[in-house]
Amino acid sequence: MPENDAETTAILWLRRDLRLSDHPALCAAAGAGAVVPVFIRDALVDAMGAAAKWRLGLSLAAMDAELRRHGSRLILRSGPPALVLEVLAGQLGATQVHWSRLYDATSKERDIRVKQSLRDAGLNVVSHEGHVLNEPWTVETGSGGFYKVYTPYWNNVKGREVPQPLDVPELRAPDAWPESEDLDSWQLGADMRRGADIVADHVAAGEVAARDRLDHFVGQGVADYSDLRNRPDRDGTSRLSAHFALGEIGIRTAWHATGASETYRKELVWRDFAWHLIHHTPQIEDESWRPEWRGFPWRDDNPDAERWRRGMTGEPIVDAGMRELYVTGLMHNRVRMIVASYLTKHLMTHWRVGLDWFAQCLIDHDPASNAMGWQWAAGCGPDASPYFRVFNPETQAEKFDPDGAYRHRWLNPETSVDAAAYFKAIPKSWGMSPDDPYPNRMIPLRDGRQRALDAYQEFKQGA
Ligand code: FAD
Repeated sequence: MPENDAETTAILWLRRDLRLSDHPALCAAAGAGAVVPVFIRDALVDAMGAAAKWRLGLSLAAMDAELRRHGSRLILRSGPPALVLEVLAGQLGATQVHWSRLYDATSKERDIRVKQSLRDAGLNVVSHEGHVLNEPWTVETGSGGFYKVYTPYWNNVKGREVPQPLDVPELRAPDAWPESEDLDSWQLGADMRRGADIVADHVAAGEVAARDRLDHFVGQGVADYSDLRNRPDRDGTSRLSAHFALGEIGIRTAWHATGASETYRKELVWRDFAWHLIHHTPQIEDESWRPEWRGFPWRDDNPDAERWRRGMTGEPIVDAGMRELYVTGLMHNRVRMIVASYLTKHLMTHWRVGLDWFAQCLIDHDPASNAMGWQWAAGCGPDASPYFRVFNPETQAEKFDPDGAYRHRWLNPETSVDAAAYFKAIPKSWGMSPDDPYPNRMIPLRDGRQRALDAYQEFKQGA
């Protein structure tokens, strides 16, 4: 199969890599000949949570605009990827298909099937690195296994040379562009029960926005990151996660730009660690990672969990976080830990209930970090906070939101635009009004903690 034949047309199948720079698969396709970038609406896209799917639509529009600035364009097709790609290759006379590898079970199963099917059809199929700093199988313990604990994982990778990001290659167009479906007709925002226009105020999608955000953070935030990253009341983190989730900026680009802060690089490596875990232990998405936890008496979905989802628990830092999530599609990491601990411990509710709600509401949803985060908070994950260490939301709030600015921002609709926006965003069926009094606590913190600890004690004795 010719690699650099001027006549060759290569298809670039885009998934969570909606950028032009720092893109090994794009560079390989461009090196082969004319490039046709395609995004396929398949079953995995249909299964995405409401907010992430809506956010994807913005990203696809931005990607098309960016490609057009480079003389290219984004082709949209729907259907099973193997069939779509084979048909498209036939229409174009393309001989090659390239994509960037993903590591969760659903993506891997799909990709293996697609690769086989296209190879059977005589196409040259190549998958590439680029989604993480270090691919999951390249980081091994001394005995050749995978890592279950973050710190030794970090020690293994911290000194590794990370390749410099690749430049945007020159993109040669095919002789004729194939037909594309219309992005609007896909209605990727249809599942958003809340006002997408409210969330849109908090979102800037695409590679240019991601680059701006990174530059802003490098210029103004990275130096104070260690001090401020745990403060939800401050603009102390990079807020790049939604860009990373869809690959609007390369992880190597972020790594090299933020060399001044080891603390920040450690966070980027937490993201890699999540993909490492999901690759080696795919059950992390569905089952308690530690088998001994699978019988823990967590409650399934229940009315308390519904109040948690609606930001109506009466626990201010928890409700502030849940409302931030609903209005912005994001939540500060410290608050994610607090609300997750509260749900799984004080409310004794299964972590899967929380994981599912996050998957519906987060615009930065990624299956690996979400699963790792929930299992960490619930105490059943590989490198988890022990179950008996129950976060006290009140103490956490005093420590990380000392002036109450974050809680005020999300809980006081009379004086805060963001808190008022929450009531415009929520479904009418919830029957909530900004004039309603703020609810009392569902359960005194001490009682909730004790209930969780008693359940743990009993469970351990029975185990
Ligand atoms: P920064 O503090 O600026 O960190 C930079 C980057 O490092 C982030 O963008 C992210 O890619 C990575 N990172 C930071 N902290 C973590 C972490 N704990 N785990 C993995 N990667 C990390 N992150 C997601 O991207 N998607 C999710 O679906 C997700 N679900 C989570 C669920 C729970 C219960 C918890 C506790 C955490 C979850 N996280 C998730 C991790 C973390 O909360 C977010 O990555 C972070 O809040 C994003 O904000 P930022 O970009 O400003 O982060």
